[in-house]
Amino acid sequence: MDFLNLAHSNAPYSEKLKEAAARIIDSGRFLNGPETEALEAEIAAVTGAEYCIAVSNGLDAIRLIFRAYMEQGRLTPGDEVIFPANTFIASVLPITELGLNAVAAPVDPLTHNLDWSRLQDFIGEKTKAILLVHLYGSPCWDASICRMLHDQGLLIIEDNAQALGAMAAEEGFGGSRYCGALGDAAAVSFYPTKNLGALGDAGMVLTSDKRLANDVRTLAQYGSDRRYHNIYQGYNNRMDELQAAFLRVKLPYLDDENDRRRQAAQVYCEEISHPEVKTPAILPGTRQVWHQYVVTSARRDQLKDWLAQNGIPTDIHYPIPPHAQPCYEGTFSHPSLNESRRLADSILSLPIANISPEKAKEISRIINLFPIQDS
Ligand SMILES: *Cc1c(COP(=O)(O)O)cnc(C)c1O
Repeated sequence: MDFLNLAHSNAPYSEKLKEAAARIIDSGRFLNGPETEALEAEIAAVTGAEYCIAVSNGLDAIRLIFRAYMEQGRLTPGDEVIFPANTFIASVLPITELGLNAVAAPVDPLTHNLDWSRLQDFIGEKTKAILLVHLYGSPCWDASICRMLHDQGLLIIEDNAQALGAMAAEEGFGGSRYCGALGDAAAVSFYPTKNLGALGDAGMVLTSDKRLANDVRTLAQYGSDRRYHNIYQGYNNRMDELQAAFLRVKLPYLDDENDRRRQAAQVYCEEISHPEVKTPAILPGTRQVWHQYVVTSARRDQLKDWLAQNGIPTDIHYPIPPHAQPCYEGTFSHPSLNESRRLADSILSLPIANISPEKAKEISRIINLFPIQDS
């Protein structure tokens, strides 16, 4: 078996994807056309975000949000932006590139998301925004803390690359609300391995702030507010019509795909009972979409080998946290970063896409047979 086989993931949609490709080729419309417009409306309808802007990829979506706030004067170089220490590097790159000061806050090893109980220690005079990452498809949300921070003037930005279709617990919203529509703005990635994956790069910005939506759209189109008139020194961050058409083929099945991930995750959580292997938290009142299913073990490398010997491929998301990457040498220094390093050394992602409950049960059984260390 493969950890993830994208040909296999896309096989059920193969005919419709080919039809969509043919339709776009024959249409002669490759950018800024009806497919991206329709996809924007469909994602808005699913998530409840008022404005959706189809863009080139997830990293660009994050960069566009921060850049738009800078153009508006809501953020200026040197302002601090808090992000979770354990995340994919693309969460952080746009922050530092724009001259903002990225501050890594510790995460809870059970949820793999921001440790809300310690967040306040990282918020100071210069803190202007917080980037929430719904890592592995688990909502990172505390409604009362976020409301308080928002009332203090902080921008709440979501990196929703891994959690499209997930819902966070929230009173007053029928008990839950879609990730991507929780804060001031959110970035989505449709990278091929994501729960809703394109056949190439694609991303989206979600917001209910009309002014931000306009600025993001302008920045993504060279900074042009109208043809050949540039109010910003912008980018070319458009989504292809082809990718939008592919995503529209797959979007109606996202909930089913997420349900299948949830079933497999449920089996893992119930069946894995090894004393040296910890399973991730199931968060009450939320809908997790399990982009990854990540267990932790102090003997992670041996566990990985054990599973490999038994024909079970695994992966590590992510082996080196952003602050420890060579590109950030000398940038970050906080005692809590050692924890982040230790957590990265203990995580292991089990297969979760296209996994039947029976297969999850079999993998759990193999994990439970992982020989205990004799000391
Ligand atoms: C995938 C991902 C991104 C970047 O998205 P791309 O489309 O690959 O640019 C950003 N943040 C997180 C958490 C991701 O998983």
